Amino acid sequence: MPKGMFLRSNWTATQIACPNGDLTLEAFQKERQVSFGLPVPIDQFIQYGLWYQNRAVPDLERKRISRIEKGGQGFILHTQDGEKFESRRVVVAGGISSFARRPEEFRTLPAELATHTNEHRDFAGFSGKKVLVVGCGQSALESAALLHEAGAQVEVVARSRRIHWLQGWASTTLHHRMGKLTRRILYAPTDVGPAGLSQLLARPHLVRVLPRGVQDRLRKRATRPAGARWLVNRLRDIPITLNCPVAASKSSGGHVTVRLKDESEKVVDHVLLGTGFHIDVSKYDFLAPELLAQIGRVNGFPILKDGLESSVSGLHILGAPGVHCFGPLLQFVSGTDFASKSLLRCLSRSGPSR
Ligand SMILES: Cc1cc2nc3c(=O)[nH]c(=O)nc-3n(C[C@H](O)[C@H](O)[C@H](O)COP(=O)(O)OP(=O)(O)OC[C@H]3O[C@@H](n4cnc5c(N)ncnc54)[C@H](O)[C@@H]3O)c2cc1C
Repeated sequence: MPKGMFLRSNWTATQIACPNGDLTLEAFQKERQVSFGLPVPIDQFIQYGLWYQNRAVPDLERKRISRIEKGGQGFILHTQDGEKFESRRVVVAGGISSFARRPEEFRTLPAELATHTNEHRDFAGFSGKKVLVVGCGQSALESAALLHEAGAQVEVVARSRRIHWLQGWASTTLHHRMGKLTRRILYAPTDVGPAGLSQLLARPHLVRVLPRGVQDRLRKRATRPAGARWLVNRLRDIPITLNCPVAASKSSGGHVTVRLKDESEKVVDHVLLGTGFHIDVSKYDFLAPELLAQIGRVNGFPILKDGLESSVSGLHILGAPGVHCFGPLLQFVSGTDFASKSLLRCLSRSGPSR
């Protein structure tokens, strides 16, 4: 995520799960003598993550895994720098970067003229440039605000009819009227999903037994593109065209021409795709084709059982790929509590010899 971004989730939902309850944001702030509140700045969250890792897993090896294949008594892992080792069990927590969605209409553009929001760490280089941001979810809207603040000339286009604001005016007023108890009844601390549904989505084992159609609708509702309320003022001076999908795009002379469905055209220096992510584990290029073929999948999502174990015994897949089987909680920080406990239960049941 680019410098200057903020997390959207609330304070409790931004805590990485830990068994003793001692690796909290509060403990981090106290020890590092830093102070921040909501929304949590990304640079502080990254520092918190590194601090957490230092305490929980100090002997971490930083190596890129280039390939995982079946072999030995379980799996053989290859690192990018040429090392090879065996493991009976592998836990993949590879994140969503591999799943960045690049719509068909932009496929012919040179990579340097049309990038995904996921590829940027800093927008300073866009100062003075004309940039078209595509999409109206959090990544698109926050990137548009950051680009504008970095001195770029920004416009936003989206196919959506309206922007969904999280905790918009109506719900903010409602929140004030609700007592603390009502809020607690309607919203789980995990902060995923709207009032009422939030409680259900906080319980992945319940979500899992619902009919498939209901699970899919819940996931869509809880993860639909939406912007945090605190972006509204920062977007005030940025033109936003809604209900207008992109029909085609082409590049010439270092510029990009984007034709919208209403036949209007935008000529810009750069297109920034805030077009989200399409989860598909076949995009994890470190999974050897023979191993991938053995992983039971539905539309790219792995079929996972307890312990987030795939159909390949000993291969666990954590994070966003788990949403098909356990619901949208799995793609957020607040899902780490469920995921880690489920994984540990599975490991302790299987014993050390398996
Ligand atoms: C714009 C944006 C805003 C978000 N805001 C929130 C929010 O407010 N709250 C929230 O809860 N969630 C938010 N999320 C979701 C967030 O990405 C997840 O909650 C969290 O990062 C998931 O953690 P993870 O460990 O699964 O994946 P990641 O944090 O992406 O970590 C994946 C790790 O795997 C490593 N890796 C990948 N491939 C390899 C390889 N081959 N070899 C070795 N290492 C590898 C990567 O280097 C990385 O360290 C947001 C996401 C985006 C894109």
